[in-house]
Amino acid sequence: MNILDIHTHVLPEEPGSALVCIGCGPLPREEGHWFCAGLHPWDVTEGFDNQLNVLEKLLANPQVVAVGECGFDALKGPSYELQEQAFVSQVQLSEQFRKPMILHVVRDFDSVIRLRKQLKPTQPWLIHGFRGGPEQMNQLYAQGILVSFGLKHNPESLKAVPSERLFLETDGVGPISQVISDAATLRVTSPETIQYQITQNTTQLLSPGS
Ligand SMILES: [Zn+2]
Repeated sequence: MNILDIHTHVLPEEPGSALVCIGCGPLPREEGHWFCAGLHPWDVTEGFDNQLNVLEKLLANPQVVAVGECGFDALKGPSYELQEQAFVSQVQLSEQFRKPMILHVVRDFDSVIRLRKQLKPTQPWLIHGFRGGPEQMNQLYAQGILVSFGLKHNPESLKAVPSERLFLETDGVGPISQVISDAATLRVTSPETIQYQITQNTTQLLSPGS
């Protein structure tokens, strides 16, 4: 596994270099890519059980190595109750298939922390597109919740994150090389070092059976 970009929606030029989020499918036929399948909080509807059945089939595919993006959005999407039901169902799938979760969280970190404590999942959760400050980041780390950084981020957090927890993403906008070189400048290191670290981290997070 050689993933640099932990969250995107477009197939990378170099197959296998990104975790591509496909929602509830369909699964692209291209070989050599890694995918993440899940029900986005914006897309949750009353009849989301049907989508969960589709999701379950996708998760059985070895090219699908994570569940997501799923989570909570306080500004957009259906009611909180419905978002929570869909999220908890996906936590169950994540545990069943032993695949970690990639989370979309807008203004509701408390729900994620509360459910992490309550459900005690064994699989890692990673909040993508994190823009919070170091204090919030450390609160999440204390609960075993990881974060990833894109082009828009809080530089103090990106500076403070320990190397073994560093994850970067494009979310489908621009090349990952840009995010890597920005992070290298900020952390006063080389892009090669960053590249090595994030590949190690993504492999550890997503390798089947780990
Ligand atoms: Zn996204």
